[in-house]
Amino acid sequence: MTPPRISFEFFPPQTLDASFRLWETVQVLAPLKPGFVSVTYGAGGTTRKLTHEAVTTIGKNYGLNVAAHLTCVDATRAETMEIVNAYAEAGVTEIVALRGDAPKGAERFTPHADGFASSVELIEALAEDGRFTIRCGAYPEPHPDATDAFADVRWLKRKCDAGATSAITQFFFEADTFFRFRDACVKEGITAKIIPGILPIQSWDGTKRFAQRCGTQVPARLDEAFATARRDGREDLLAISHCTQLCDNLMAGGVEDLHFYTLNRPHLTRDVCHALGITPTPCLEKVA
Ligand code: FAD
Repeated sequence: MTPPRISFEFFPPQTLDASFRLWETVQVLAPLKPGFVSVTYGAGGTTRKLTHEAVTTIGKNYGLNVAAHLTCVDATRAETMEIVNAYAEAGVTEIVALRGDAPKGAERFTPHADGFASSVELIEALAEDGRFTIRCGAYPEPHPDATDAFADVRWLKRKCDAGATSAITQFFFEADTFFRFRDACVKEGITAKIIPGILPIQSWDGTKRFAQRCGTQVPARLDEAFATARRDGREDLLAISHCTQLCDNLMAGGVEDLHFYTLNRPHLTRDVCHALGITPTPCLEKVA
């Protein structure tokens, strides 16, 4: 099987310690030559400046194609477009355009009175601006705000019609979950590329909590397997084999691109990539 095209998600560091961790993550994963990497935008827009710095620093020092995440949370349209301009001026050409979640303490996303009310509105503005390749989020299992089982497919069609040319999915545990969603998207007339978001499991308890918040189904077989692996001190081994198997199954079903949620911890992602036949090529980084 031909190795897949890969990409990685990082988050911006908020402490010196976290900066070193991000740097190590990029050092370990850049030699795998990802097609792009993306940098998240903190919940509630909390990492606006840090995201910008991480995006530009990674791009400058590693020559990687960096997609900046951007949300509609807690900002006017003018403020959001100011951020967009700053990205364009810094040479960024890709944006992952998202609605975002409610800020901490709030239950639901409420648009800023003068802000973009939805991801579709943000994507429309970016498409009109015309300087970026626009990626968006996608949900193989119902997003907590979805009104019915197919709401996410219909909404993704709206996002693609507005100008998104590819979508990255929320993580999931079973390849069939992705295939069912992909089939439903094709039926809805979506032609944009849908890239599975892959989460190598760094901590099973943390992953389960995160899955519950996102509406991701946790298979009982994995719960049992991780309980056994924990007893034997082999959680990392199980995480690598589960993730590699998931990627293999996706590739066997025609998937050519995989987007890894690295959580700024590179080793599981690196080991899975190696298992998939992606070998490092030396990276001539210009460390500032
Ligand atoms: P949307 O797709 O716009 O909405 C999610 C679902 O809610 C839709 O599928 C639809 O079912 C329903 N919905 C929402 N609005 C409407 C509407 N007006 N009418 C009808 N249905 C609607 N969060 C961050 O804060 N920072 C990040 O950097 C970040 N990166 C992410 C990257 C990826 C790849 C993904 C999948 C998610 C990311 N998130 C991030 C989380 C994301 O912000 C949340 O999942 C948020 O709740 C939804 O954002 P969205 O743009 O994907 O939503």
